[in-house]
Amino acid sequence: MDYNFPVTRTTTPKEKPTDCKTLGFGKYFTDHMFIMEYDEGQGWHDGRIVPYGPISLDPGSTSLHYGQLMFEGLKAYRNPKGTLNLFRPDMNAKRLNRTNERMCIPPMDEELFLAAVKAIVKVDEDWTPTDPGTSLYIRPFIVSPEVSFSVLPAKKYLFIIILCAVGAYYEGNESKLHGSRILVEENYIRAAVGGTGAAKTAGNYASGMIASYKAHDHGCEEVLWLDSKEHKYVEEVGTSNAFFKINGKIVTPELTGSILPGVTRDSVIKLLRKWGYEVEERRIELAEVFEAAENGTLEEAWATGTACVISPIGVLVYKDKDYPINNEVVGDVSQKLYDNLYGMQIGKLPDEMGDWIVEI
Ligand SMILES: *Cc1c(COP(=O)(O)O)cnc(C)c1O
Repeated sequence: MDYNFPVTRTTTPKEKPTDCKTLGFGKYFTDHMFIMEYDEGQGWHDGRIVPYGPISLDPGSTSLHYGQLMFEGLKAYRNPKGTLNLFRPDMNAKRLNRTNERMCIPPMDEELFLAAVKAIVKVDEDWTPTDPGTSLYIRPFIVSPEVSFSVLPAKKYLFIIILCAVGAYYEGNESKLHGSRILVEENYIRAAVGGTGAAKTAGNYASGMIASYKAHDHGCEEVLWLDSKEHKYVEEVGTSNAFFKINGKIVTPELTGSILPGVTRDSVIKLLRKWGYEVEERRIELAEVFEAAENGTLEEAWATGTACVISPIGVLVYKDKDYPINNEVVGDVSQKLYDNLYGMQIGKLPDEMGDWIVEI
């Protein structure tokens, strides 16, 4: 299918940021956005690119009250050829539809999603920063403008893609990872099996914020979430997936329904297996992690996500006790994963999986 989205160019282009050190995350939105409507009976229609700007929502719009919302997140990177690289965007298209299914939002043709992403990125590609670690962040999302207080799925939706220039996750040197302090969260939970944990939806984030505050109060950057039922098994790190290297073997929590299936998680598993590592997806008891930390077999731990790619965990904090991992030194596997994934994403290394990089 050949999509041809009309483009209305802005007449008041914004000044692009010049200092890549202060880009932050979600500060510098580009000049345009993609917008498309859904109406029952008609499907998704009228996809177009318009100047970036506020959208008007009636205060009685159902999404504002009941949170029938979804979002995605991916990045475009400038490659050495001067074009842009997307990383496995088909995975975001598939996940969008899984989220939509859970949230009772109508599905979207994967080709349409991909065409929309490519079209808006192309229009604002000059906003892609080039400093190491920086990228153009792509945020597709769906909101309903339908006015209703009935707790029912809406019949009208808006699909919007906005873009922003984002800074390096690791300040200073893009390949110099550092280990973070992570608070093991004993009381609050992120998601329960049967709930919306596997969907990329706003409510999961809203309910997790209080724990992030608590983590900051404890001098930690993020929380390690445990399962909702027994508070005994490891689930995710903040809004990233968790990996542990114990006695040479790599383990990550299996997707039980309360864990968000990250594109980076999937990529890490596939790369590690290709490189010959043993990777287990299974339930991991917190007790097993602490035991390994204490007997010296917890060799590495890291979080994965689009924002950080790989974020090593230096210390786990539990009941006011510190459990340092690998003496807080960034492990070889964490560094190797970061270098290879990020290298592929920016086109410095060849796409060793063949179809992970989509050039636009
Ligand atoms: C988005 C997200 C991730 C990471 O997914 P990626 O596709 O790797 O960016 C992990 N956990 C949660 C809760 C998320 O929302």
